[in-house]
Amino acid sequence: PAESRACLNAGMAVTILKGDITHQSADAIVNAANSSLLGGGGVDGAIHRAGGGAILAACQELRRGRYGRGLPTGQAVATTAGRLDARWVIHTVGPVYSAEEDRSALLASCYRESLRVADELGAASIAFPAVSAGVYGWPAESAADIAVRTVRATATAVGDIRFVLFNDEVLAAFERAA
Ligand code: ADP
Repeated sequence: PAESRACLNAGMAVTILKGDITHQSADAIVNAANSSLLGGGGVDGAIHRAGGGAILAACQELRRGRYGRGLPTGQAVATTAGRLDARWVIHTVGPVYSAEEDRSALLASCYRESLRVADELGAASIAFPAVSAGVYGWPAESAADIAVRTVRATATAVGDIRFVLFNDEVLAAFERAA
């Protein structure tokens, strides 16, 4: 019920910011990764560039171990944040947008699973990009709506939740959703 959720999350502050997520000082920064975990463009490339080789090395280690076939869509896993100000990078794989098939549950899962991992780590703050809203083609309005609704409906001890948006269209969509 909404009331118990509100109660669980009474200390939660959700902030919408414009900027480069690699500049955030948060305990955890979320990466919109691809399932290979081995880097890519967009925010993924920016995080690996700014954080340095330690992040890639940790991702390669995950590929040799638990995630031999890659990280499945909708799941999340943490690594070191390397040289970034954050303590951890939480990698999550958003779904590619499809007009034929409703993949919203997978996108919601990215936010829920990232918060679950953050809770396991004991993170007090987390910064999210707009998962799937770039190369993966998710319409900004819908991506923002799913992100904000899911975070608010998730029971978590992470009190400081930030959405860090890189472009004006996505920023405006998140502001409307919030
Ligand atoms: P996806 O493949 O999940 O769509 P992208 O990285 O292509 O991931 O895009 C996700 C969102 O991240 C887009 O809105 C894009 O503008 C944004 N983005 C790109 N670089 C950064 C950055 N340095 N900080 C925050 N957001 C970024």
